[in-house]
Amino acid sequence: MAANKKLLVLAGDGIGPEVMRETGRVLEWLGRRRAIRFDIEEGLVGGCAIDAEGTPCSDATLARARTADAVLFGSVGGPKWDSLPFEQRPELGILRLRKELGLFANLRPAVVFDALAEASALKTDIVRGVDIMVVRETTSGVYFGEPRGITKDAAGKRHGLDSQVYSEDEIARVARVAFDLARKRRNKVTSVEKANVMQTGRLWRAVVGEVHKAEFADVELENMYADNCAMQLCSRPKQFDVILGDNLFGDILSDLAAALTGSLGMLPSATLGAIDPLTGKRHALYEPIHGSAPDIAGKGVANPSAQILSFAMLLRWSFGLEEEAKLIERAVENVLTGGLRTADIMQAGRARVGTSVMGEAIVRELDKLGG
Ligand code: NAD
Repeated sequence: MAANKKLLVLAGDGIGPEVMRETGRVLEWLGRRRAIRFDIEEGLVGGCAIDAEGTPCSDATLARARTADAVLFGSVGGPKWDSLPFEQRPELGILRLRKELGLFANLRPAVVFDALAEASALKTDIVRGVDIMVVRETTSGVYFGEPRGITKDAAGKRHGLDSQVYSEDEIARVARVAFDLARKRRNKVTSVEKANVMQTGRLWRAVVGEVHKAEFADVELENMYADNCAMQLCSRPKQFDVILGDNLFGDILSDLAAALTGSLGMLPSATLGAIDPLTGKRHALYEPIHGSAPDIAGKGVANPSAQILSFAMLLRWSFGLEEEAKLIERAVENVLTGGLRTADIMQAGRARVGTSVMGEAIVRELDKLGG
């Protein structure tokens, strides 16, 4: 018999445990109705780990993440830990996991659910049907490049310095993730940079072009300046399928793409590492894009959809369970179409529900769809 899939669940702080509990119902449904079972380990990360273990991500948690097939992450942080020095903050828990597991490709879908199209700040006809995947490089670029710092010159004036540095291998490996993804979607990659004014931009465009020509010539490749991409995202977002960007541009453009959907509580993400040539496995961590929402933590009103959709991404990317991933995505969509809304996505004439009613409704829908 095949071994169970090994999951490390790190619910974290604030609404993390609340939305993770609802994801647990979906996990339980998979076991009950589809005989898909997981060996689940749970661990602490973020503020709760600081309180219990003295560090936001202990060596033991890291070791368990290394041996897991996938990590399902909630969110970290909160006012209780805001006054800690930078090097002890809860957010370092996720940064450590990303760095130590070599998670270099962040995948952020921005999907406008039909039922929520009116919640976008943009006109409904512009955003209805938008389905974009932003692939962002996350382990290099200007957030990590050396030299960096704030120095003083002879006259005592301060100078800030960050360095945008990319090697061709770092660009090529994230480009491969984007092209590979595009093949499973609408077969188009828009690669963004500022090749007109930045040397890393020139290299980025050249390397993406080489990878395309050598390995993915069947995929449509479009190069676009990052500023133009920001404008196009607001005026004609439906032209995009996969957008590929470096750490900085990917960060900004993925937030912009998320804003098109008008709903933080609906958006999942995945961060993938390289495929190990020996085992064929890759490290991967899945998390909602929202934070720990301390303003609503403990009130039972958080939207569990982003966490549940992160789990759907996990099924797809770490276990190849495409059918089950699609079922979960459809169940969430149908619940919205049926009129249920958590407070963050509330619209006139809809039924306002809390976290657990939303979770139960999604599982009921799963029963109907994939019984
Ligand atoms: P946030 O995403 O936690 O919250 C922003 C707003 O959106 C809040 O009003 C919140 O109530 C609402 N919101 C977020 N998720 C929701 C959900 N699922 N359902 C309903 N409403 C939701 O961002 P923030 O307030 O800037 O940050 C709060 C804390 O989270 C900070 O400590 C921050 O550092 C941390 N944070 C962590 C992560 C992470 O763990 N990866 C990401 C972002 C922020």
